[in-house]
Amino acid sequence: MEKGYVVIRKRGADRIRRGHLWVYRSDVVDNNDASPGSIVAVRDERGAVLGKAFFSSKSQISLRLLTRNDAPAVSIDERFFQQRIAEADRLRERLDVDPLLSRRIYSEGDLFPGLIVDRYNDRLVVQSLIQATDVLQPVVTNILQERYRPRSILFRNDSKVRELEGLELKQEVIGEPLPETIVVNEDGKEIAIALASGQKTGSYLDQRDNHRAARRYARGQALDAFSYAGGFAVQIADRCESVEAVDLSAAAVAKASENAERNGLKNIQCIEANAFDFLRERHREGRRYDIIILDPPAFAKNKESLEGALRGYKEINNRAMRLLRSGGILITCSCSHHVSEALFAEMLADAAKDAGCWTRVLERRTQSADHPILLTVPETLYLKCFVLEILGDSILT
Ligand code: SAH
Repeated sequence: MEKGYVVIRKRGADRIRRGHLWVYRSDVVDNNDASPGSIVAVRDERGAVLGKAFFSSKSQISLRLLTRNDAPAVSIDERFFQQRIAEADRLRERLDVDPLLSRRIYSEGDLFPGLIVDRYNDRLVVQSLIQATDVLQPVVTNILQERYRPRSILFRNDSKVRELEGLELKQEVIGEPLPETIVVNEDGKEIAIALASGQKTGSYLDQRDNHRAARRYARGQALDAFSYAGGFAVQIADRCESVEAVDLSAAAVAKASENAERNGLKNIQCIEANAFDFLRERHREGRRYDIIILDPPAFAKNKESLEGALRGYKEINNRAMRLLRSGGILITCSCSHHVSEALFAEMLADAAKDAGCWTRVLERRTQSADHPILLTVPETLYLKCFVLEILGDSILT
């Protein structure tokens, strides 16, 4: 499958040697007319081979490394990718990840750049995000069919990031046609998921471990803000007196209600509202909660929007802190890659200062274990989740 080689500058080579997988276009000296989405050898200007990579003709990221092995005998063929997928399976087995409801391939985190594979029982939802994974679609389809024997594979190639690669946005089903929703079992709760029309690949598998963690703190009056299909609400409700699940999207609220009903959870109230307004309104009413979950979408889409994003995060976190009873729990998340954990913690400290409370960090969490993080590829870590105990004066005097 490989063809040709690309020469890169020292800066790019150093980055690869430090363990990153990406080479930016500005670090490419000569791409030797490599074809879009091909697999190429990567060389530095002295001719030393650094490994083999996916080449992209359109993206700012020209190369994504697949292997550091420079032996010419290591060929990148169907077997190579089969092994990558087998390795990803082995990792998940060791981590005791649910085989029927999990991310099986997490792009760079599984050393398979550009490919996302989520499994929902006997259906797979795949995202191909770069040129090379589009070229490899038949190969990937073969491997996945052989390995998981799914009833259908849905290629949800409708993610906006494909535009950066010059790829069209589309969906394609292989195998049986898909029903509008399927029902999966998440830790004993039945959750209906719209694979083709839902957000992401239908659900937020990256929050599953945090849904589970939230159960430990659940009690009293709960608020699940930015609730989508009720991921947190459904998991905590049987330990709470009441749960309000708030989302701006009518479709999400309908799904959350359906999921609450399906599990016989009568104490969940699903509310269609802007969470910013909702928090303000509840504050004005003098309402109090024992646990609040904040799981907003990425406010910082790029570096330019960082400042505004931090203001947004601070506002909702400040409001939530003031709405909690002393000793209450705030589970607060950010999935903005541009907001580092340190920056997130700093923002939370600012919010606490304005709220006049102390906050104790009970847990610092991240995305679920089936979204593995490469230490030297910081982009693989995007989800921050703090579990905070809010300490007002009453608990301390
Ligand atoms: N907590 C969910 C995932 C949340 S994703 C889970 O664990 O499954 C973020 C959600 O925020 C989306 O459903 C989106 O519709 C919603 N959203 C975006 N802006 C919002 C706003 N201003 N107010 C309320 N919800 C909002």
